[in-house]
Amino acid sequence: MAEAHLNPTSELKKYFGFSKFKGEQEDIVKNVLNGQDTFVIMPTGGGKSLCYQLPAMMTEGTAIVVSPLIALMKNQVDAMRGFSQHDGVAHVLNSSLTKKEITQVKEDLYNGVTRLLYVAPESLNKEENIEMLRELKISFFAIDEAHCISEWGHDFRPEYRNLKHAIETIGRKPIIALTATATPKVQSDIMKTLGVEHARVFKSSFNRDNLYYEVRPKEDIERQIIRLLRENAGKSAIVYCLSRQKVEDLAQQLQVNGIKALPYHAGLDASTRVRHQDAFLSEDTDVIVATIAFGMGIDKPDVRYVIHHDMPKSLESYYQETGRAGRDGGEGNLITFYSYKDIEKLEKFLAKKPVAEQEIGKQLLQEAMSYAETSMCRRRYLLYYFGEVYEQENCGNCDNCNNPQKLHDAKDQLLLALQTVKAANQKFKAQQIVNILIGNLTALLKNHNSDTLPQWGKGTDHPDRFWHNLIRQAVVQGYIDREIELYGVLRLSESGLKFIEEPVAFMLPEEREYVDKSSPNSGQVIALDDQLFKMLKDLTRKVAKEKGVPPYAVFMEP
Ligand code: ADP
Ligand code: MG
Repeated sequence: MAEAHLNPTSELKKYFGFSKFKGEQEDIVKNVLNGQDTFVIMPTGGGKSLCYQLPAMMTEGTAIVVSPLIALMKNQVDAMRGFSQHDGVAHVLNSSLTKKEITQVKEDLYNGVTRLLYVAPESLNKEENIEMLRELKISFFAIDEAHCISEWGHDFRPEYRNLKHAIETIGRKPIIALTATATPKVQSDIMKTLGVEHARVFKSSFNRDNLYYEVRPKEDIERQIIRLLRENAGKSAIVYCLSRQKVEDLAQQLQVNGIKALPYHAGLDASTRVRHQDAFLSEDTDVIVATIAFGMGIDKPDVRYVIHHDMPKSLESYYQETGRAGRDGGEGNLITFYSYKDIEKLEKFLAKKPVAEQEIGKQLLQEAMSYAETSMCRRRYLLYYFGEVYEQENCGNCDNCNNPQKLHDAKDQLLLALQTVKAANQKFKAQQIVNILIGNLTALLKNHNSDTLPQWGKGTDHPDRFWHNLIRQAVVQGYIDREIELYGVLRLSESGLKFIEEPVAFMLPEEREYVDKSSPNSGQVIALDDQLFKMLKDLTRKVAKEKGVPPYAVFMEP
């Protein structure tokens, strides 16, 4: 559909000033230019936008780009206008446009000047917009952040579900879908829901060699974070916390301890958020303490630390958040503080959600927990989760490779667990299997004849978290299959059946012990529950009031 004489590499130079393509961009662009459906799975920062922007510039007609966030669309439109002579080359269509702006957009569209039209899914589903777009020459549809279509993605947006219908009503043209979420489940959801099952798939590696992965037990956490940040003063760091309250408390505690830190969460007003974000980007502050509200679209290449005060609710979120470190290819350290209690807390949040969402949420949480508890190479584990095989035995850049955990043989316990799974005959999820093992009679188990559960109460010599961990590791090592389609019901795999016939060693990690590594001269740490911290906090409030600024601003340079 492109004008045949055009060469992608020279067009790349002409429109974007880049001399060569990154990764698979060129093949992707050619596939789109050939009018084929295309599915791009590429990590954040990989250069997905160009995969539709360039073909749009090279093709007659208008490409419709669906994107979930107004801010992301505006950035791209500004960038495209910068590359082009004509402001009309790219437009956003949304409900906040003035009458005059709408007239301009329509004029440019009808005159064929506009190569890229960005729309939010809500706008694309609107009758009047569909009517207008039906009359235009559309080159292709690009669905950015396509994981929003899937409930298994980290950012489900119900409006994405109607895209297929809208596209068919406007007139089916080639589709390019793009996402940085690589789980096979999300991938198949996207293809089905968009109706692009036959799309050519371009999947880049998600491995980031420069990132160091570490999970620490959540003990004495504030002291650990303060030590870490003090030792790395002057380097950029993001500390993620689950709650807004924690964000504010921790930010203040860091300040009190002489660390340049600012809070960021959706409860702060917009101008404060912008100010704190700018302070971070311009390096007036080293550390941003934030909820997940911080990060989307923020591009600071030299973030050296991403610290998770709490385990994220899924491995997708973990990968996205940790992925903000070391964008420049330099050092990036990812330290996650993990406690099983946090998982229980997250499960409680889930309990308030609709049932279907709960089940999905629990599965995702299980995976996150399983990652935190694994003794395997973290890189290998994470990549495996994203459907990628990491060949090396030792990555040399994660805690489990650099400092292997002590293991013990849990052959007998695995045998017992596998026998239980077998006896339960594909009826139960991990929770019920554990309940059988520890003899915890739930309503669900009451309906089952105890004769069919000979393993009842045979595992009381270990606590339930031991059994959960063992089952998770058995899943990871392929002895048990977990049927995601059936909400995680357990079933023995071939190798599980073989294990029962002929048990072999099954090594499980012992829990890592926490050792306080702070040296006596690493400086005093003022803890959140210290008398001194409380005094300083009160004092800060008082000064803030006198100065007429919020408490977190007291320690900022004027
Ligand atoms: P993604 O959407 O995959 O997260 P973006 O499309 O936002 O990534 O691109 C990330 C960065 O890479 C941008 O700053 C972009 O300008 C840059 N980029 C993309 N393609 C190239 C290229 N071929 N050469 C150099 N830089 C590129
Ligand atoms: Mg993008």
